[in-house]
Amino acid sequence: MLTITVLYDNVAHDARLQTDWGFACLVEGLEQPLLFDTGGKGDILLRNMRALGLDPRAVRTVVLSHAHGDHTGGLAAFLAENPAVTVYLPQSFPAGIKDTVRQAGATLAEVTEAQEITAGAHTTGELGSQIREQALALETPRGLVVITGCAHPGIVEMVRQAQAEVGGNVYMALGGFHLRDANAGQINTVIADLQALGVRRIAPSHCTGDAARRAFAVAFGADYLESGVGQVFIIGAEE
Ligand SMILES: [Zn+2]
Ligand SMILES: [Zn+2]
Repeated sequence: MLTITVLYDNVAHDARLQTDWGFACLVEGLEQPLLFDTGGKGDILLRNMRALGLDPRAVRTVVLSHAHGDHTGGLAAFLAENPAVTVYLPQSFPAGIKDTVRQAGATLAEVTEAQEITAGAHTTGELGSQIREQALALETPRGLVVITGCAHPGIVEMVRQAQAEVGGNVYMALGGFHLRDANAGQINTVIADLQALGVRRIAPSHCTGDAARRAFAVAFGADYLESGVGQVFIIGAEE
């Protein structure tokens, strides 16, 4: 069983938590807890974790999707709290963020190609031509769960790549899909492409945009899951 908790999001959900522009989520049920992205501000990230009773010191792996501040801004504060982690980031990251990892005493792992990070958790490798970004692909009893930060290389491309690298059906995609500036036609094409890839459930938030989230909700019906800060997705063997 895998539990994914959204720790940082500009989409509100749990009133006990602070809402702020950015994204981060915690994956539990792997060998060790894994933090995907860190949001924009470390104090908000750590406060939201504590409000949910989650211990930052339990995390052993950090995966950073891409270098934008709303995904990496919380890193230094997190590492000050818990430097006993390996940080997987795209090799194209600016030197300053790599220095932050080294100076905190954490282990730096620079990603270029797809690889298994820890048992059942894979990175797609660096994708995209302008803003380089990696997605996380988790093997679950229901199929692959793909998590994206902003999906700047394109959510369809990132899901397709995750499936090509790891194999199997795509059970769920969640995170930021970067469709805020997309028009209705572009949004519908993305939805059709994801459905053609066999994506069963969808939980977009962060930079997906309200119009796109509404369109996903209509297209996926009961398989559209509301996301937002504090939302918890539990993926087990049964429905
Ligand atoms: Zn973002
Ligand atoms: Zn971004």
